Amino acid sequence: MSRNLQLKKIPYGMPGRLVVITALCAVILSGGCRFSKEPPDQIYQVSTFKRLEAGGYGGFVPIKKIAQNGDFGIGTTDGLDGELVVRDGRFWSVKTSGKILSVGSGESSPFAEVKFFKPEITYPVRGMIDKDKLLTEIETRFGSKDAIYAVRIDGVFESVKTRSVPKQTEPYPPLAEVIKNQTVFEAAGVMGSVIGYYFPDDMSGVAVAGWHLHFISNDASFGGHLLGFRINTGTISIDRADSFLMSRPPKTEPATVG
Ligand SMILES: [Zn+2]
Repeated sequence: MSRNLQLKKIPYGMPGRLVVITALCAVILSGGCRFSKEPPDQIYQVSTFKRLEAGGYGGFVPIKKIAQNGDFGIGTTDGLDGELVVRDGRFWSVKTSGKILSVGSGESSPFAEVKFFKPEITYPVRGMIDKDKLLTEIETRFGSKDAIYAVRIDGVFESVKTRSVPKQTEPYPPLAEVIKNQTVFEAAGVMGSVIGYYFPDDMSGVAVAGWHLHFISNDASFGGHLLGFRINTGTISIDRADSFLMSRPPKTEPATVG
């Protein structure tokens, strides 16, 4: 008897299950559509700066995934192989040779910070000014020093000074050691973009507290981790981030973090 009932339940159960699945799909799809139209106003970060400083150079997040979380940012690629700059969705790596290569979606990163760049404030550079003075001026525009800000400066740079670092092999030395072998680049009269972030003091270690900026020229022939500049004509864009999302490194990855 119970066997017969079970057999009878199957044809009735199927349409019911289909209705539930269809309803679930509708809910998921409608939610998905809303999110895909409006990317989150958040910073997405791979690992912590403290970990990178300690020698955590093994890439563990594919560039493809990072690109799904932002079109603007900075970082490095597997093995600390140069300075990563992400501008308008294009990923560039400034090698220690000075060569700038397009980064493939199959490559990976041990540290990166990206965001979908949507500036709330845009204003012109007024007269010749150097990096430190301009950054101090930009900070006066921040509503709060407790938020994270993505900042882009486009223009004609009178002079720019950058650096890049050589690719490392395991066992990885700490970043302070690697920087002793950095290559410094200088250029004059460059059209390009400063790209990077301002993080609040209480995020020190998670990121670089204060400013961390990279540079790329419009023709992608000059760039790197930004050390200094002078600019006369340009545009400053500020995008405040409301939230922060981080991918932690896998537990199995060997690291020299103390
Ligand atoms: Zn950097």
